[in-house]
Amino acid sequence: MRGMVAEIIAVGSEMLTPYRVDTNSLALTSELNKLGVAVAFKTILGDDLGQLTEAARIALGRADIVLFSGGLGPTEDDLTREAVAAVLGVSMQRDTSIVDGLRDRFRKRGIELRDNNMKQADVIDGAEVLPNANGTAPGQWIDTEFEGKRRILVLLPGPPKELTALYTDQVERRLRGVVPQVHIATASLRMAVVPESEVDARTAPIYQEYSDVQTTILSTQGEIQLHFLASKGTEAEAEARVAEVQGRCAAEMEPFVFSAENETPEQVVLWLLGERGQTLAVAESCTGGLLAQRITAVPGSSKSFLGGAVVYSNALKTAFADVPPAMLEEHGAVSEPVARALAEGIRARCGADLGVGITGIAGPDGGTETKPVGLVYLGIADGAETRVLRLNLGGDRERIRWFASQHALMELRKRLL
Ligand code: ATP
Ligand code: MG
Repeated sequence: MRGMVAEIIAVGSEMLTPYRVDTNSLALTSELNKLGVAVAFKTILGDDLGQLTEAARIALGRADIVLFSGGLGPTEDDLTREAVAAVLGVSMQRDTSIVDGLRDRFRKRGIELRDNNMKQADVIDGAEVLPNANGTAPGQWIDTEFEGKRRILVLLPGPPKELTALYTDQVERRLRGVVPQVHIATASLRMAVVPESEVDARTAPIYQEYSDVQTTILSTQGEIQLHFLASKGTEAEAEARVAEVQGRCAAEMEPFVFSAENETPEQVVLWLLGERGQTLAVAESCTGGLLAQRITAVPGSSKSFLGGAVVYSNALKTAFADVPPAMLEEHGAVSEPVARALAEGIRARCGADLGVGITGIAGPDGGTETKPVGLVYLGIADGAETRVLRLNLGGDRERIRWFASQHALMELRKRLL
């Protein structure tokens, strides 16, 4: 049995400008996937009746379910209803109960009901009205035939809050009645400090064996994610399928995987610190507090994170982390001994179990032949042993700083395991 496919048509000229992005389709896709419906096409187009009609006709030719977002408002350029009626070759009727509802709503708010507001009461022949509790424009549900095939059309208002509420209240239940029931299971793996190309080269031979599992690889900010989705007749079957491919990919990428539960590296580090009853302090130079910021963004971090210092100048490396001035003089601030001294110094100063020291050159200026931009030393001290990692990070200032914090979290995780 082939699963049903959907197309989403996002209507609104603002989404064809650099200022607005269509987020409604992402929310809808996530919901549709839960029902085992894949989104095969997305169209974004402006408020133009001709184009809208053409897009609707194409969508009805290729998708079982077509969802429209936007263009249901009262203004001239809200044309979704008109376009759908045109493609289906049917007319619209003004629904008196919707008109009454509009009148009521406007009276309560003390605003004048204009003629164009009435447009929102136009119901396409054969459509079921989907009451909109959060706005004036109701949605519409149409279950019909188009060129001999069953088609579901769903018209939803553009404002994201209205659209998601309407989907939950009115659409989901109706779709469940139409879509053959399947059980969906998802799983993910999150990895860091490894290139996407390497993850793909090593895991593709595994996940390609699972043609019934939809695998997506995403790369963002020094992190690679694998997402798996299976739809099966039973929940157990679907769960088993994603768990198997997830397990094999995790084994392949072992040292780089920090979460199979969709957690961030900072959450994982804090969880491990909590488990072991250990505390952490940091002395940051080139990352300027980024590591502390990431850690403290996690609720409950105060249990394990003591704090630390942003030690940008040499004077403060000495004042706050007891780095000897002679060491700074001899080796320079960006050096192995200084990273070691920062980690040990901040650990001792703060009375923490673990200390991290980060010093490097984030650029774009300040690099030399022997100490190029992107050179970062990362020290981790635990009282027994201090290890320093020398990193050569590529990219711009933002990327170098982010990757330095990412490596610090991954090293902490390794140390805690
Ligand atoms: P209204 O009755 O409010 O006019 P509408 O159905 O006509 O509703 P639009 O006018 O198309 O909807 O959009 C209303 C608001 O929702 C705008 O601020 C628009 O930017 C936002 N919006 C519309 N479509 C999307 C989308 N696909 N993703 C995110 N925001 C959207
Ligand atoms: Mg509008």
